Amino acid sequence: RWQPTDKDEVARIRRDHFGGNLKLTYDDPVMLLRGWRHHMFDEWGRPYLDAYNNVPHVGHAHPRIQAVVADQLARMNSNTRYLHPAQAAFAEKLLSKLPPELSVCWFVNSGSEANELALRLARAASGGRGMVTLDHGYHGNTTGAMDLSAYKFNAKGGAGQSDWVELVDIPDDYRGAFRRGSENPGAAYAAQVDDALARMATKGHRLAGFIAETFPSVGGQILPPEGYLKDVYQRIRAAGGVCIADEVQTGLGRLGEHYFAFEAQGVLPDIVVLGKPIGNGHPLGVVVTTPEIAKAFAKGPEFFSTFGGSTLSCRVGKTVLDIVDDEGLMENAAMMGTRLMSGLQGLAEQYPLIGDVRGMGLFVGVEMVTDRESRSPATQQTAYILNRMRASRILIGCEGPDNNILKVRPPLCVDAEGIDLLLHQLGAILSETGSQP
Ligand code: PMP
Repeated sequence: RWQPTDKDEVARIRRDHFGGNLKLTYDDPVMLLRGWRHHMFDEWGRPYLDAYNNVPHVGHAHPRIQAVVADQLARMNSNTRYLHPAQAAFAEKLLSKLPPELSVCWFVNSGSEANELALRLARAASGGRGMVTLDHGYHGNTTGAMDLSAYKFNAKGGAGQSDWVELVDIPDDYRGAFRRGSENPGAAYAAQVDDALARMATKGHRLAGFIAETFPSVGGQILPPEGYLKDVYQRIRAAGGVCIADEVQTGLGRLGEHYFAFEAQGVLPDIVVLGKPIGNGHPLGVVVTTPEIAKAFAKGPEFFSTFGGSTLSCRVGKTVLDIVDDEGLMENAAMMGTRLMSGLQGLAEQYPLIGDVRGMGLFVGVEMVTDRESRSPATQQTAYILNRMRASRILIGCEGPDNNILKVRPPLCVDAEGIDLLLHQLGAILSETGSQP
């Protein structure tokens, strides 16, 4: 007799043998055994709409990725110390999406590793050690990346802020100090960099650079005000620093209008960091920089990663980028993003629990507040909605310092039916919360 895999037993083994600080999502966790496009299926074969995961960028179980992985594993898989056309082809394809100034790349295995390497590049190029970054940011789980992640080092039990790190506010123009409608909030936030640089100097550190998610996701699905990064980059460069754009969540067409978020801010970073979606589930991270920075780094010891840039990884990475082009997924992100945003704005008109709807393409945040005047975070209600959506078999996330921002970030192949289902169900749940006009 067919029996579903025992979810309770899996949970027990995990409880007994996995680290206690590895969290599961949802009050009633899901066990997902299969995926197809923007759907996942649990141990009973029940479908879930995946409106959260950005790793399956071109969709779960994509046939072209399956085929390329099977084909390459049947041939061979090796490292970057031998010549292989797949590695050259991936580099060329990726660089064709970037401005010509960014022309040198390194392949690693994760976003954390990529940020770790970016930090080393910035230090090699600048001769400094100090970094400026955003409050509540996240850049990875390795030692250096953790030092750059206020979301972790400032968390309960976290390691605290290193003396070479200086924080500036997330440029949040809904909740922060400088709001939409005020005079030039972007410039007001950017000016905080000068104070950060002054504090760094008093601690005796020279500047290496600035790192931020171009659109801070972990900080609450924030779209910085116009001109923000341009102003920040100017100040950092004037002080001899290097500007790093963490595009792990925002890159590769998700924003619909732009292939990378830095284009939306009208800036050219010195280093771009990519991860998660670029392997569609296969571990892959990439760092791209200028020849000048690459040259400074090459004065040091050789950089080598056993698995980073393996033949297999490069074939997967190239195929992901090809699929985004061939299936018009950036255009789809623009269309579906517009449909999603207008639906959410409609819900905001009906339900005062929604304080703000913001986003670009399929990078969307819905900020929940108990009171629109005071903007007090509706943390409990957000958790309720997240879990009720899960019970309706729709996967979304929640972000921000107060965990009150619903995060919608589906695979780029999501269709109108998926968007409409999400909007319909979210509306139904909002009507349950008693949040009536
Ligand atoms: N940067 C950002 C913006 C991320 O969201 C993440 C992962 N959540 C990372 C870096 C780290 O990537 P990884 O987990 O692949 O090491």
